[in-house]
Amino acid sequence: MSATAAHRLVAAIAPDALAPGTVLVADTLAADPRAAGPGGGADVPCPAAPLVEAELRRLGTATVRGVLRLAPAGTDPVSRDSAAVAALLRGGGAGVGIGVAAPPDDHAARLAARAALASWLAVAGSPRTVLLAAPRSFCAGVERAIEVVEHALRQRGAPVYVRKQIVHNTHVVGELSERGAVFVDELESVPEGATVVFSAHGVSPQVRTEAERRRLRVIDATCPLVTKVHVEARRFAGRGDTVVLIGHAGHEEVEGTLGEAPEHTVLVETVADVERLEVADPERVSYLTQTTLAVDEAAEVVDALRRRFPALRGPGSDDICYATTNRQDALAAIAEEAQLVLVVGSASSSNSRRLVELSQRRGTAAHLIEDAAAIRPDWLAGVRTVGLTAGASAPPRLVEEVIAILGGLGPVRAVERETARETVRFTLPSALRGPG
Ligand code: SF4
Repeated sequence: MSATAAHRLVAAIAPDALAPGTVLVADTLAADPRAAGPGGGADVPCPAAPLVEAELRRLGTATVRGVLRLAPAGTDPVSRDSAAVAALLRGGGAGVGIGVAAPPDDHAARLAARAALASWLAVAGSPRTVLLAAPRSFCAGVERAIEVVEHALRQRGAPVYVRKQIVHNTHVVGELSERGAVFVDELESVPEGATVVFSAHGVSPQVRTEAERRRLRVIDATCPLVTKVHVEARRFAGRGDTVVLIGHAGHEEVEGTLGEAPEHTVLVETVADVERLEVADPERVSYLTQTTLAVDEAAEVVDALRRRFPALRGPGSDDICYATTNRQDALAAIAEEAQLVLVVGSASSSNSRRLVELSQRRGTAAHLIEDAAAIRPDWLAGVRTVGLTAGASAPPRLVEEVIAILGGLGPVRAVERETARETVRFTLPSALRGPG
């Protein structure tokens, strides 16, 4: 059978098992041993089930996952009622299926089930290539911050309070919450004397003072590369400079850095901000950057600063961190070859959003996805080459899941393109060293 021809079978399921308004999404199509032909005698996995399930939820329909039992068309009263539908994708050796079932007398659920199935079948069956950018996913600062919370939970027991998201990823935060981490926005939510972890993005001196006042047991998971920027801010302000911080207003890292020398620091985001800038002494201006900016955009702002303030001084080495730079370079190497780029990361993740913008600036459609379930069928229409990467706070397993789930729509060939090898590792804070 060709890769593009989805072979449709009618499937049967005990409809009584489904609550009204609920659609069953098959994670396995279990073959009826009596059935002849495709699928007969062998169970068929359904890796695309999360995609179908997400589509149904977008349609406002409740779902459950389960097994759909295939039966020869026309041999079963349920199948004749068309309440259950499955498709086998066998082309190119895919050997995978998609299946949904709704209660036979539930018209709305049946319509939704058929719509969800049809939307994914429309982009299923053909082979795809996934170009994997490398490096991608966790950086050394994120790995360290997660390890800090895990270690603190083992060493001190739950609850361990964490100020802000430890890293900007909802999966990471959710998993640590389940293990006893309690995420708070401000220190006032932490009981006096409790253990609190500062996130990878760093905090201002004012937050440290407040933690001391409340006798909190602080473990600082600030990325050492963010700490480097704080040290520079203090040094530049200390020598009497106006410190121009290039970054995004409201980002936690920016708030922390601004807090080091608030009277001496101004924030700029764009070249237009630079044009409007007023400083006390144009001969005494230095700049810093947020660690997760787009390298090319930040360079434009620095150039604009240098045009206005020729005596401008900067950090000894780039503040945009190695991980941000490497992930942008890796994506740049594949973005133009891909017809679509998927960036795994949370909306709150600055470096992930910069990756999406980078691809879009290079003319390739790109989407930020929390995980594979966020992929929409229309994005994949006519797409045979998908570029895939992940921001520095996104777990590697989410990338693997995207590849596996895309494999539920037809054969997938994953090709990794490595542009740099990362060996950076950071040690745990001294407060945690020792057995955990
Ligand atoms: S992205 Fe860069 S600055 Fe941020 S945690 Fe990772 S290594 Fe540190």
